[in-house]
Amino acid sequence: MQIQLTNTLTRRKEAFAPADPSRVTMYVCGPTVYNFAHIGNARPPVVFDLLFRLLRHTFGEQAVIYARNYTDIDDKIIAASLERGVPIGDITRAVEQAYETDMGALNVLTPTVRPRATENVSAMVEVIAKLIAKGTAYVVPSGVYFSVAADADYGKLSGRSQDELKAGARIEGEDDKRHPSDFALWKMAKPGEPQWQAPFGAGRPGWHIECSAMIESELGSPIDIHGGGIDLIFPHHENEIAQSESAHGHALAHVWMHNGFLTMDKEKMSKSLGNIITPRELLQQGWHGETIRWALLSAHYRAPLDWNEDLLKQAQASLDRLYGALLRLKDVPPAQAEAPSAFVAALADDLNTPVAIAELSALATAANIAKKPAEQSKAKGELAAAAALFGVLQDDPEHWFRASFGDQAAEIDSLVADRVAARAAKDYATSDRLRDELAARGVEVMDSPSGSTWRRKG
Ligand SMILES: [Zn+2]
Repeated sequence: MQIQLTNTLTRRKEAFAPADPSRVTMYVCGPTVYNFAHIGNARPPVVFDLLFRLLRHTFGEQAVIYARNYTDIDDKIIAASLERGVPIGDITRAVEQAYETDMGALNVLTPTVRPRATENVSAMVEVIAKLIAKGTAYVVPSGVYFSVAADADYGKLSGRSQDELKAGARIEGEDDKRHPSDFALWKMAKPGEPQWQAPFGAGRPGWHIECSAMIESELGSPIDIHGGGIDLIFPHHENEIAQSESAHGHALAHVWMHNGFLTMDKEKMSKSLGNIITPRELLQQGWHGETIRWALLSAHYRAPLDWNEDLLKQAQASLDRLYGALLRLKDVPPAQAEAPSAFVAALADDLNTPVAIAELSALATAANIAKKPAEQSKAKGELAAAAALFGVLQDDPEHWFRASFGDQAAEIDSLVADRVAARAAKDYATSDRLRDELAARGVEVMDSPSGSTWRRKG
């Protein structure tokens, strides 16, 4: 199936054609590992995980190489390390571990490679040395800077002109750089800070050069797809392009994809507003990882997404319906099936998740109304295949419903068992009373030849 993707660079939706279909390459900017990522930071890894799954489905599992990095050296990490008096590695490894655990709970597949910035500094030094030799970078006492004026193409991703940049240049780096919009490739060593040796002076890399160098050393450029949040278009991705293309003389990436902002109750999420929530907190509150994943995918990835409790409740209700269909067909073996083409077509259309979700819902309906065993088996197989591609329905249906009732699940189990016993004894008065009691707790009992199961009432 032909995949269409919106390319920020050309501002168009385009047919995706990898340079080599047996080696499809994708890079997504990963987290700066100094504290827990908030829910807005979880949107890119989930969105691009879905794209990773679609690419694997289309080109073959072994054909897709996906790199997502860890930025494990940065001002905030150094500040935290100095404040707590521990080496930066102690902080970054612990945060990395937590990040992997949380992403695993959201059914995010492990990327093919997960390079760390600190393990690729020699590749960064190499690119910087190349840029200095070409005259597009210069050395001053505070560091090495990229000269924006030396790059005629600068601004092509964000659509900002050189004049605009001059007018609104943000100050980044020290006073000794030649132009306000020049950006740091290398920061010269300061006492007490981690540092690496380089021919142009000991120091540490700037953020932008990290990704440029890791793309080159892990994947080789040009890569097929480069992704990240919309907030990274400028300056981060603009600067990645400037550095890499100036150093290597060819494109860094063919397709640039950006996911939209996530707001919290219609406000920008920020520490100062105190409206930040992390996936870890949501999981601790009892929300299932698949519910969080579904909520993050409920809007088209390019659209803004407003995060709130209702969004999670709706996501849970949608998944209840899907899990309910599986539970109803618990005794039916699923047929070997491919994800139906209407579902795959929705994803192939620039990851149109709202349409894909409607297709999943239609598959659940088909499973619910199927009567003959062969129809039920086919419907169950198709629902399972589509859901697997979407990264949901990976839990056991009974566990799914039990998990959301927390401590109450065991009590509900015993009420259901009492009701089964009452029915067996033909004590219908007790059986009806227990059914009403369960209903009052929001539980619906489903009786089948192999026994009774329960789920949350829809
Ligand atoms: Zn990056």
